[in-house]
Amino acid sequence: MKKSLLPLFCFCLSASQLSAQTEHSDGLFNLKDKPSAARFELSKERVWPEETGKPEVCLWSGDRYAAVSITIDDNWASNHEWWLNITKELDLQVTWFVITERVGTGAHWGTWEGFRALAEAGHSIQSHSANHLNQADGQWPGIDWEYAASKKALEENIPDHHILALAYPGGKNSDLNDREVAAQYYITARGTRGTPNPANQIDYLQTNSAKISRPYIDAILEGTSDVKWLSGGQYKRAWLSAHFHGVTGEAIEKTETDLRYLASRKKDLWIAPFLEVARYGQQRDTHTITLNENTESRIRYTLTDQMRDEFYDLPLTVKIKLPASWNRARAKQGDKLLEVETVEHEGQKYALIPAVPDRGEVVVIPGT
Ligand SMILES: [Zn+2]
Repeated sequence: MKKSLLPLFCFCLSASQLSAQTEHSDGLFNLKDKPSAARFELSKERVWPEETGKPEVCLWSGDRYAAVSITIDDNWASNHEWWLNITKELDLQVTWFVITERVGTGAHWGTWEGFRALAEAGHSIQSHSANHLNQADGQWPGIDWEYAASKKALEENIPDHHILALAYPGGKNSDLNDREVAAQYYITARGTRGTPNPANQIDYLQTNSAKISRPYIDAILEGTSDVKWLSGGQYKRAWLSAHFHGVTGEAIEKTETDLRYLASRKKDLWIAPFLEVARYGQQRDTHTITLNENTESRIRYTLTDQMRDEFYDLPLTVKIKLPASWNRARAKQGDKLLEVETVEHEGQKYALIPAVPDRGEVVVIPGT
């Protein structure tokens, strides 16, 4: 975040709330409110800046057209091996939302060793609450416990893994969910309303979650769909977050077909773990970019955001139209050489530069 712009504001935390936080002197923990209007004007096509040297943050990482994340609820250990195989074949990373109190209590619920193996294979392990709002024994400790105990268990059992996303438990007690409490522990929380998330009005504490299948994928990429309510273009460029439970019987073959179709569209889709998309989105939605120098020999800019750097350190992709005399570009942020991609559009060259907000000025020079 940009320190000078935000008021110093810090909650005094009680001992039981040590990991609970929303605002902080170093920036925002999350954009916790449902947006009342579009956060920015959304272009339904990729943006190609007209002005040479003027940097613009891309809607999605790598200037992909739309975003997708795949999540799996309720542990489903019997599917772990199948998911490991199909995601390895298609080079996909997915997210398990785990009910933590159930881990180790039976074959369906999996083991910590099993979830660590999924994390080591590159997947994301996040919270689906401690006990799924289960009130059967009349001893329910409350919603704060559901969210906090689960986060703590995951932090203890999945080392070196940021536990910052929640999927709200559904079912008959789902009205016990509380986004204000969730916002204290998690930077984002997934709901189950079955539509894609329009990119400029994401409710990060209650994201929609739909399906991975051709009608949904076509809706975010082409604006068309076999399903009438998904067509008409309103979901173009959206974030399609999807959730699975068990994949069994005939659903296995159908899901493999759907995942293969998804993977075939990778050139235009940023397919990333749920938490990554939620982080990119919140950094993007609060960013400021300042052009410091724009000459034939050098372009310099500063990128900041309002989010807490401790939790938000993803590179945002910045696009720059290169001066006519430049064949390519090289870029540095501090001492770090950035991996610049040069792309061409209608005979003009553009650089795609991944830089982390609040890490200092980015200097761009002609490359060979
Ligand atoms: Zn569930």
